[in-house]
Amino acid sequence: MSRFFSEKYAALTPYTPGEQPRGRTYIKLNTNESPFPPSPIALRMARQAAGNVNLYSDPTCMALRKAAAARYKVDTDEVMFTNGSDDILNFAFMAFSDEAHPVVFPDITYGFYPVFAQLNRIPYETIPLKDDFTICADDYVGIGKNIFIANPNAPTGIALPLCDIERIVASNPDNVVVIDEAYVDFGGESAVSLIHKYDNLLVTQTFSKSRSLAGARLGMGFGCKTLMQDLNTLRYSTNPYNINSVTMAAGVGALTDENYFRFACDTVIETRAWTEKELQRLGFEMPPSSTNFIFAKHPSIPGKEMYLQLKEQGILVRHFDAEKLTDYNRITIGSKEEMQTLIETLEKMLCEK
Ligand SMILES: *Cc1c(COP(=O)(O)O)cnc(C)c1O
Repeated sequence: MSRFFSEKYAALTPYTPGEQPRGRTYIKLNTNESPFPPSPIALRMARQAAGNVNLYSDPTCMALRKAAAARYKVDTDEVMFTNGSDDILNFAFMAFSDEAHPVVFPDITYGFYPVFAQLNRIPYETIPLKDDFTICADDYVGIGKNIFIANPNAPTGIALPLCDIERIVASNPDNVVVIDEAYVDFGGESAVSLIHKYDNLLVTQTFSKSRSLAGARLGMGFGCKTLMQDLNTLRYSTNPYNINSVTMAAGVGALTDENYFRFACDTVIETRAWTEKELQRLGFEMPPSSTNFIFAKHPSIPGKEMYLQLKEQGILVRHFDAEKLTDYNRITIGSKEEMQTLIETLEKMLCEK
């Protein structure tokens, strides 16, 4: 830390992203990226747009909003785009919460929420998951605070039914409820249709997982017009050009190419089912996943040891040090071949135990 660093950030613990190794080629099952390249339409549109990067990108993101409005049956005023969905989550903390409007989220969830709360000096409270790692919806009903829930949740992979989400939203009419749907396309029920019914609901999604654009950085948010206006006030006060024009074009292509999107999601879901069965055969235990990852533990190998042994074998998974999570590893669903290699490697590892 330099002697100039503001005191207000001195205690901040930044988010730790998953490893992005350069050099050795690993089978990367640690950051929930898609194993597939972007849609060919997205790539073609991105290439065309690259020729025009001498010009600023469209700050209104109109082409993207029109494509999203058609795809998700919302108005163009009910959707907005940001530089990854982390960006809109940060705006959501900034826009709606402060000393007088604290935040709650589960004790086990996306690691960025406490960072955004700290960054923006927002008091927050965490609510423990049940022992089976599910979120108890009743804990949030009528709580009277702003709420962040990842649905499906991370890193557990468990989804809450939409009726529970609706109960939470309906019972907290004077607070904003943010539903982070980063993984919804792999088996969750989306709350997007509820934005017409509740003015306190913000739904966020990302192009990083199901739409194969993690490196392009594109996130989207759905909510009533006035929520979008508030978030756009912050967007225009920080970086109105936060979506570059190449990403914008790729995003339009990805939203238009419904067949490719379905193919990618269906393949991940199929490979997940195969991997779950194989892991169970090897003695692993895991909660039911509605995402593109599996959160698994084995009775005879501690989580950290498994992570390190797999890394040595050229396979990266994600291990979390938090006490409740330390037995587990979060394993991204890669291609079928990658998952076959994972299973073979684990099988050998377990034999040698
Ligand atoms: C991956 C992820 C995000 C955001 O990813 P971006 O790449 O910033 O869009 C948000 N929430 C959860 C729970 C995630 O896993």
